[in-house]
Amino acid sequence: MTEVIEEFRNISIDAKKILGIVQKNGPLTKAQILNITNLKLTTLNRIIKPIIDNKLIIEVSIGESTGGRKPSLYDVNNNYVFIGIDISRIYTQVVFTDLKLNVIYKERFNMDSSYSPEKTVNKIKQICIDGIKKLKLKKANIVLAGLGTVGPMDLEKGLIKNPINFMSSGWENVAIKEMLQEALELEIYMDNGANSAVTAEYLFGSGKAFKNIAYFNFGRGIRTGVISNGNIIRVINDTEDAFAHMTIDFDGEKCSCGNYGCVECYSSIMAITKKFKEEIKNLKKNTIGKPIEDINYVDICLAAEKGDELAYKIILEAAKVFGTALANFINLLNPEVVVLSGPLMMVSNLFYNVSYKTAKERCYFSNHANIFFYKGGYFKENAISVGAVAIAIEKLIL
Ligand SMILES: [Zn+2]
Repeated sequence: MTEVIEEFRNISIDAKKILGIVQKNGPLTKAQILNITNLKLTTLNRIIKPIIDNKLIIEVSIGESTGGRKPSLYDVNNNYVFIGIDISRIYTQVVFTDLKLNVIYKERFNMDSSYSPEKTVNKIKQICIDGIKKLKLKKANIVLAGLGTVGPMDLEKGLIKNPINFMSSGWENVAIKEMLQEALELEIYMDNGANSAVTAEYLFGSGKAFKNIAYFNFGRGIRTGVISNGNIIRVINDTEDAFAHMTIDFDGEKCSCGNYGCVECYSSIMAITKKFKEEIKNLKKNTIGKPIEDINYVDICLAAEKGDELAYKIILEAAKVFGTALANFINLLNPEVVVLSGPLMMVSNLFYNVSYKTAKERCYFSNHANIFFYKGGYFKENAISVGAVAIAIEKLIL
């Protein structure tokens, strides 16, 4: 493990609070910090001295003057580096960020059927080695790594338990935290991907000014993270697919979970691809221009945008089902901000537009609701990996 993590651990609780405030709101003058914290200047000076001395907080420039001497501006030191890892079922992404979650390095690879846990961890290690070399970093400047991955999981033991739909076998009871800690020689903080993403959007992104935010990620399944009144809503086994398996049609199709008529049966990449392939077989001509077995969700989404009748019909229906389920969710939790993201949402304007419009029409307080919908949010495809860093830093300076 690196020693640099101790520089963060060894400061007082009060200093950690100031560090968190400056990280999220900096650069700030001391007067602005006093305004946020209600501290006296002498108290602030006493608290802030050790973190200025060890350069966790630095003077960055001179602020605006309201007359008299111009005040100094303080911000966090951006020479510290954090690694964010997003292991999903379609892809894995690794980012390097600074303390303010600016991405300084990014690599991504697709998860095909060869990516066992061992191969995935080895590839992540190689990406990190390359990144350190490319950016000419000192390993000692890397503080820790955050991991956002697929549930259900055991956070205490650092296990991925038994998620469905990984393309490779071997993703059951994986001690992923330990594997990554050994490979990267860094402390790892782990959470599910949707919680990671919603935290990034809440603290630094589209939900920054709000207390209630919901994040939906459409990949192979539908993953949901919720912050209500400033707190992550956590469930047993830290799963992220509770919404995906809400029943939208009590007499509906059989779901991979064993139940019937779940949202995921209609509105996920897997559902859309399966339906399209079934129905195109009944048509006399293949409108996509490649063998049916090779058609993927991107082909279908792009065909729908170009007006392909079958693709349009299937995406429209999938979005209406999700939009209706989203209206139910909004009725229950009343979010101020809804971020709709993930590979399917990002590639299909039709899916996004119909989803949020249906949700707006169908929620019961539609006439006076003022909900902000964002496609991709502020962090787009980086939300989970950057959010994994955001959660790790929060835990470090809590
Ligand atoms: Zn289900």
